[in-house]
Amino acid sequence: MVSTPFEVILLGTGAAFPPIELENTSLALRWEGGVWLIDCGGCPHRRLRLAGLDPRQLRGVLITHEHPDHLYGLPSLVHCLIPTPRTEPLTILAPPAALRCANKVLEAFAMLERPEVPLQLEEIPLIPRSSVKHWLETDPSTEPKWEPFHTADGLQLWAAPVNHTLETVGVRAQCGGRVMAYSSDTAPGDGVALLARGAHLLVHEATFREANRDQMPAGHSTARDAGLAAADAGVETLVLVHFLEPTLSQPQALIMEAAVVFAGRVEIGQELKRYEV
Ligand SMILES: [Zn+2]
Ligand SMILES: [Zn+2]
Repeated sequence: MVSTPFEVILLGTGAAFPPIELENTSLALRWEGGVWLIDCGGCPHRRLRLAGLDPRQLRGVLITHEHPDHLYGLPSLVHCLIPTPRTEPLTILAPPAALRCANKVLEAFAMLERPEVPLQLEEIPLIPRSSVKHWLETDPSTEPKWEPFHTADGLQLWAAPVNHTLETVGVRAQCGGRVMAYSSDTAPGDGVALLARGAHLLVHEATFREANRDQMPAGHSTARDAGLAAADAGVETLVLVHFLEPTLSQPQALIMEAAVVFAGRVEIGQELKRYEV
């Protein structure tokens, strides 16, 4: 029997105001135990099917923060799951503020207590920033210093606060010894540095290029910032996501910006592409 590889599939790669051809950034994790969704914009059910994934295999959704581009697809997802009733609850994980927002949005659309789609909403405990900084400075090992907050059939998930404009977590996911990390929206900081340590694949936001840094609001990164994070964490492959229109105007320059500071493989994230971790 051929075992299912641990894969990341990008369902969207656009920023909050995405270029016309892109969807808001979200990604699916696929492993032997099913499918996990990280962030939830657009029509996630359609995106999963476009990516060749079976929405009935969906085990859970992790929301990194409550900005609309990362959360607003949630009621649509539950709505689309109604015609294929399930008994296993769909787990929804988010840091405290985003979980409150998810709860409100689901309630507004009467999707919170549909018998066809039982939901289990769980708060992601926030690791103190001081602990993240302490671990980063005192312990060089790549093993996480804290327990995964969620485990599902061999998939382990860790989260740590990243450096965005509101409460946001980055994610580390491990399956069968392979590790991926996702920055979510963030300026350079300790959270990603710790989560991505020794990861095989880092999906990092690059909302801006250095050429447009003067227009960049707080809480985001350029491709060069993403490259520095990848180099610092010692990852193998860096995949850039969360683009604005001008960021993609010169793709080669975007890659070079990261490649100048990071010796590993750099790719501009392609929607619906599968990346084996
Ligand atoms: Zn965003
Ligand atoms: Zn955001």
